[in-house]
Amino acid sequence: MDFRFTPQEEQFRSEIQAWIKENLPPGWLGIDREEQFDPAIFDVTRQMAKKLAAKGWLTLAWPKEYGGQGRSIIEQTIFQEEMMFNGVPGTTMGIGGTQWVGPTLILYGTDQQKKEHLPPIASGDRWWCTGYSEPGSGSDLASLQTRAVRDGDDYIVTGQKIWSSAAHVSDYCWLAVRTNTEVPKHKGISMILADMKTPGIKVRPIVNLAGAVSFNEIFFDNVRIPVRNLVGEENRGWYILAVALDFERSGITYAAYSRKTLSYITQFVAHAQHGPRRLANNAIVRNLIADLAIQVQIQRRFAYRVAWMQSKGKVPSLEASIAKVWGSETQQRVAAEGMRVLGLYSQVEGETHLAPLKGRILAQYLSSLSNTIAAGTSEIQRNIIATRGLGLPRD
Ligand SMILES: Cc1cc2nc3c(=O)[nH]c(=O)nc-3n(C[C@H](O)[C@H](O)[C@H](O)COP(=O)(O)OP(=O)(O)OC[C@H]3O[C@@H](n4cnc5c(N)ncnc54)[C@H](O)[C@@H]3O)c2cc1C
Repeated sequence: MDFRFTPQEEQFRSEIQAWIKENLPPGWLGIDREEQFDPAIFDVTRQMAKKLAAKGWLTLAWPKEYGGQGRSIIEQTIFQEEMMFNGVPGTTMGIGGTQWVGPTLILYGTDQQKKEHLPPIASGDRWWCTGYSEPGSGSDLASLQTRAVRDGDDYIVTGQKIWSSAAHVSDYCWLAVRTNTEVPKHKGISMILADMKTPGIKVRPIVNLAGAVSFNEIFFDNVRIPVRNLVGEENRGWYILAVALDFERSGITYAAYSRKTLSYITQFVAHAQHGPRRLANNAIVRNLIADLAIQVQIQRRFAYRVAWMQSKGKVPSLEASIAKVWGSETQQRVAAEGMRVLGLYSQVEGETHLAPLKGRILAQYLSSLSNTIAAGTSEIQRNIIATRGLGLPRD
């Protein structure tokens, strides 16, 4: 097996790395996916998105006719990996904008929807949130209750979404609603595009356990959304949603974050003293780091396997779930071991000299906890591996 990247892919990676060096402030230690939407940092996030859009990099794998560069999925994955490894904010136009709202609209949107929404995503001007989860529907998403009732040329939407990342900074919501209550649950769902400025929509931010404002509750109180904002056919939204979820997978984000955290731990160990001895000479610490390096390599291979399958037009199912479980859990393990290696000072954050690496390992440790919940919990992924992958019965 030949796992090497092509010369063109290697060249593209070097180009991205050079650009990052030039465009990130010196000493930048990174930011994680959810932290980038916190009001304290969001101006930087927005500026970075505009710069990336100007390079045409926000929509690398989109076809040229829609403002993309027609590059391969592998090149897009390389881009995402480099951006996440270096903690660059603003790479996805909210949650979903570039990764699944745009690509799904390219497949199923009307001409009008494509004209209205694709250019402002590609130019870094329109931010998106994703409205799937509700207080009573997460893993069992098809049970969602937010209701859309047809009234002339509008739907009237009433209900509540929760955990919507970036909703407090978003212009539009990629929204799953129930349009029929009389049929089996999967068959009564529709996907609509909701302008977040529409009267009746209220967003209430939730502070996450890392202290950042990242996800939100969204309340819909008799909100009028034009029927022209329906994506695909009414009541066939579950199938559109399934396609959008497929665009969400690869696991490269987890792999990039783990690799970064591991590089920080290694850097710390290389310079730290443990009593009279250098920490780097401690066999237990060296073994631990070597062990983490193996796990991170596996994680990266799993992620590129998913990207490779997508690039060949195959639908990764078992492979995507394996990448998700291993990726998210490895990210947690690496950050947790980092906390142990740094010792008690690992809990100090901010600009003080007492905070090792300005608290970046702590930030990773806290934010990585949510990765085994977001985008399908580890239990649900294991169910998929057991049933679709190993052929075990569903019930
Ligand atoms: C950081 C973060 C960002 C998020 N961003 C968004 C977003 O932008 N938009 C959005 O719509 N949602 C978002 N979510 C929500 C996320 O998709 C849900 O939290 C997730 O799907 C789990 O749903 P739940 O929280 O309702 O938990 P539940 O589904 O209630 O699950 C509770 C527990 O039961 C377990 N469980 C449930 N069913 C089964 C089963 N059949 N077999 C075995 N175990 C089971 C779960 O694994 C879990 O441990 C985000 C979540 C996080 C943490």
